[in-house]
Amino acid sequence: MEQKAKYALVTGGSRGIGRAVAVRLAQDGYPVIINYASHEAAALQTAETIRNAGGTAELLRFDVSCPEQIEKAMADWQSKHPDAYIAVLVNNAGIRRDNLMVFMPDADWHKVLDTTLNGFFYITRSLLKDMMTKRFGRIVNISSLSGLKGMPGQVNYSAAKAALIGATKALAQEVAPRKITVNAVAPGFIKSDMTQDLDESALKKMVPAGRFGEAEEVAELVAFLVSDKAAYITGETISINGGLY
Ligand code: NAP
Repeated sequence: MEQKAKYALVTGGSRGIGRAVAVRLAQDGYPVIINYASHEAAALQTAETIRNAGGTAELLRFDVSCPEQIEKAMADWQSKHPDAYIAVLVNNAGIRRDNLMVFMPDADWHKVLDTTLNGFFYITRSLLKDMMTKRFGRIVNISSLSGLKGMPGQVNYSAAKAALIGATKALAQEVAPRKITVNAVAPGFIKSDMTQDLDESALKKMVPAGRFGEAEEVAELVAFLVSDKAAYITGETISINGGLY
């Protein structure tokens, strides 16, 4: 498999959608950096899957909501790879802390915004300069159907995912002249740890396609947005939801 000098970083690449994206981008020849927050064994499993298929993978632990951790992790990575740069960034790390707003503690509001929205800001800002200098970049932000339509019980999550779409549109216009594209993907119900506590058999009846999606299906869409073929698509939000709007 041809290896590219440009790296791809997937935040929250240890599990679920992030894992599937990391594996898929490695298939396209990207050396992949798997970021995770705490589940090291899961991150190692993603790396092993990639290596077993002939790809290249590294782990990079940091909390996306912590700028100091990001700065240190990126400086360490760059010192080990002086000639490389991260050309592809998939902002996938995310959490749910569902509750009706009337009962929502401050901490659950802030934690969700910190991870999804502030996480996007800190990590993207730290990688943008290199992408701009190199005049190539691909940024894909994993938003959600909740960010498009709003979901009761998810005011925090819907706000964070909607804000991510606004940021996607604005940043896309800032960096388009440098051949950097910025797009968002808005999944509906996808099978993963995040949705394992949901009543799938009841909820899938709401989905016109009659099922939850697979993480690998989201990964295919991300791989397309990262590819050269998608060079003219930017500032867009693409739903992947089996027809559930
Ligand atoms: P998941 O299985 O719960 O995985 C979440 C991933 O995010 C894990 O790799 C986790 O790392 C990482 N993460 C969480 N907080 C982090 C932090 N502060 N710093 C770094 N990494 C962090 O979730 P998923 O279903 O794959 O979801 C992935 C993304 O898709 C999320 O943004 C989610 O909101 C979005 N999404 C999911 C669905 C769905 O139906 N599943 C639908 C729409 C959107 P650790 O393993 O170390 O904990």
